[in-house]
Amino acid sequence: MTPAYLPFARPLVDEAMIAAVAETLRSGWIASGPRVLEFEQALSDYHGGRPTRAFTSATAALEVALQVCGIGRGDEVVTSAMTFFSVGNMIRKCGATAVFVDCDLESRNMQAGAVLAVLTTRTRAIIPTHFGGLACDMDALLALAGERALRVIEDAALAIGSCWKGLRIGAFGDITTFSFHPNKNMTTIEGGAAVFANEAEARRAEALRFHGIRRLPDGTRDVDCAGGKFNLSDVSARLGLVQLAQLDLWCTKRRGLADRYFARLEGKSAVALPARAHPGEPEGHSWNMFSVRLPLERMAMTRKAFIDAMHARGIGIGISYEAMHLTTLFREAGHREGEFPNAERIARETVSLPLHAAMGEEDVDRVCDALEELVP
Ligand SMILES: *Cc1c(COP(=O)(O)O)cnc(C)c1O
Repeated sequence: MTPAYLPFARPLVDEAMIAAVAETLRSGWIASGPRVLEFEQALSDYHGGRPTRAFTSATAALEVALQVCGIGRGDEVVTSAMTFFSVGNMIRKCGATAVFVDCDLESRNMQAGAVLAVLTTRTRAIIPTHFGGLACDMDALLALAGERALRVIEDAALAIGSCWKGLRIGAFGDITTFSFHPNKNMTTIEGGAAVFANEAEARRAEALRFHGIRRLPDGTRDVDCAGGKFNLSDVSARLGLVQLAQLDLWCTKRRGLADRYFARLEGKSAVALPARAHPGEPEGHSWNMFSVRLPLERMAMTRKAFIDAMHARGIGIGISYEAMHLTTLFREAGHREGEFPNAERIARETVSLPLHAAMGEEDVDRVCDALEELVP
């Protein structure tokens, strides 16, 4: 019997969650309403009481965060060449210039020293992505930003449940954005959230999320900014509430599966393994992804052939990520190969192995057995 197909990511939605969503669907209030407020409160409680708002995606949250910071034409925003497309796109969409830095080859995270080297008088913000859920060095990045009055918008799409020095990502810092896409550690189907620096900025984000509408005392409405339409539905928020209640358990499960990968592969396989959590802080990694680098120079196949061969064995593989500066969008802005060697090497060699809370250790073993066959 061939085993069931093992996707590289999948959401966990049990019958109790389906029942909760069905109850909201039957309630008569399905768009933004009381469940969104409840979900925002629960997220805020999870992050030490910080002002929190929900959005239709992390991409929407990021766009609004940039607008809240007043970032636009003539401004520069520093980010890593090794990040998801959202980040470069939203910097560009708000009219600012994306200034890329290379990442660390092992952690794949942005480093403060590289950021320091590209700061100009036009730099307004830094957007660090916590790669795969592994916290960036937030002490160094926040110190650097603090000295120069720069905003820090953390792309924590994959890092809900991760800690930095005992504090959850989002429980400190400036602005932090999260994603609840089905591939993340918890889901609202599509959805996202942002934790803001203060209540005034959160209220500003609320307007930018919903047409820029302001309610007047006479019951009519006014618009004082060209807001978008990024409000989460109560149906999604209800799913988010029941998912959030399981998040810590699922993160613990993921950490156990990552440990199993290390036990099977460390010192035994030629693939380059991801960075572990920072020493003494196992909770510093939410383990959304287990991304390795293939030793392509000693393999008799391309990455595409490797992915196809894994697929033929019933195993799904992801690619995270392509190098942002080498997309057509940023090549047209003058970016070229050779600028960011680590990001480009990762982009060429990376594959993400299956890792999600619905897996068991026997699934990890199955992936490792297939790796042993395919990687000499
Ligand atoms: C998924 C992801 C995003 C975008 O999240 P959406 O909710 O799909 O908009 C941004 N950054 C990173 C690192 C991601 O993995």
